[in-house]
Amino acid sequence: MLYIFDKDGTLVHSINGERPPNKLDEQKPIDGVLEVCKALIADGHLLAVASNQGGVAFGHITALEAHAMVKQITDYIGATTYAVCVTHPNGRKKAARRESRFRKPAAGMIEYLMDAFGVLPVDTVYVGDMDTDREAAEAAGVGFAWADAFFKRE
Ligand SMILES: [Mg+2]
Repeated sequence: MLYIFDKDGTLVHSINGERPPNKLDEQKPIDGVLEVCKALIADGHLLAVASNQGGVAFGHITALEAHAMVKQITDYIGATTYAVCVTHPNGRKKAARRESRFRKPAAGMIEYLMDAFGVLPVDTVYVGDMDTDREAAEAAGVGFAWADAFFKRE
């Protein structure tokens, strides 16, 4: 199976509370994530991360900072690769102010990652914590799991 994970609220929490992390040292892996991901890899599963980083479009962070945060947790869980979308239709930065087929709840990032591995939707599960994650999975025709249930959190 290919397991694709959302980042914020699924793999990491923010030390800023509700506000998503803007820097590497503002995101912390959620307890238990590493153990579950290690077991999945040991069982031969493929892992990837797919994250909306619309903060780039608003000028809160740079694209490089967004990629650094997603790459950090990708490496931490032992996933192979990741996809990021930095656009937002209401963004302040003209260059990134648009809808995108990659921005969840659209299916683009999940489709890209399935193509990157050559995996069918029926063999793919997206794990997330928001309705937009569930909608993206539905749009891509893949399975969906809520992060709390998947990682057996309270
Ligand atoms: Mg999330």
